[in-house]
Amino acid sequence: MREVTGKTTVLGVIGDPISHSLSPTLHNLLAEAMGHDVVYVAFHVKPGNVSEAIQGAYALGIKGLNVTMPHKQEVVQELCKKSQEVDFAKAANTLVYTAEGYVGLNTDIEGLQKAMLANDIQWKDKHVAIIGAGGAGYAACLSVMATAKSISLYNRTKDKAESLKKNLEHLTKTDIKVYEIDEQPSVKPELVIQTTGVGMGSLKDQLPPCTKLLVTPDTQVVDLIYNPKETAFLSYAKAQGCKVMNGFDMLFYQGVMAYEQFTHEQLPEVVVSQVRQTLRNQLGL
Ligand code: NAP
Repeated sequence: MREVTGKTTVLGVIGDPISHSLSPTLHNLLAEAMGHDVVYVAFHVKPGNVSEAIQGAYALGIKGLNVTMPHKQEVVQELCKKSQEVDFAKAANTLVYTAEGYVGLNTDIEGLQKAMLANDIQWKDKHVAIIGAGGAGYAACLSVMATAKSISLYNRTKDKAESLKKNLEHLTKTDIKVYEIDEQPSVKPELVIQTTGVGMGSLKDQLPPCTKLLVTPDTQVVDLIYNPKETAFLSYAKAQGCKVMNGFDMLFYQGVMAYEQFTHEQLPEVVVSQVRQTLRNQLGL
């Protein structure tokens, strides 16, 4: 057990709900492996309290915060400065303390890229379908759009997918097309990224409505959900013989990048892979 003293640096994560979050386990494992005098805790911040929570955290000198559902968009207005990724995604998941206020970053985008690379999921020159147009839908689109061959967007509320397209299409030459949720895509997806909450919590056993239109035996399939480790969507894809990836590695790599920003230190590769393995073992992955 690490000793917490008056000198210990405090980091944390805010969200609602938050008790399920893996981030405290991940960041405390990283701190322990690095021998840093750091403790990372979860703060349950209810909708409506985001502004007070961020101002309070800053006043308390909390050196870094991660932000999870549903606050990633709302925190943007509390930042003194933001990265280009935050501007594009309209969401921040990492807040770094500076003398001027919190600087906002979005490590979800590169986190997903690193996760797909680690799992040999290919998106370059591939037809990619993305299900969902919330914060994670933006992150997925930003992750693949520089090099994907095309992007097919599906969302329950089509207007939100249209807004996503409108906000991001000027950043890429890749064709982005929005479909009705039950409409056959004009190109067969070679990679499908599921970014909605369908498959977790009260929606645990459900499939996103467009699943059977998009997932065929040779599709690569990614679900950003990591709890449960195999959603109904991934089980369906596995039964079709697809190569699949769940959301654990995205969470892991976005967390590693956030920790490096909080501590202003690059983590040695050996620490990263050792902590990844420890967490995977703990979670039975
Ligand atoms: P969000 O901004 O609230 O967006 C939610 C998305 O889910 C929207 O596209 C919404 O569609 C859709 N949705 C919700 N309920 C639905 C239903 N019953 N049927 C069909 N669609 C439904 O949330 P988010 O930040 O994008 O997060 C979404 C998921 O990604 C969560 O499960 C989160 O845990 C996961 N995630 C994982 C990581 C990771 O590191 N692995 C990182 C970020 C997010 P409408 O627009 O129609 O409401």
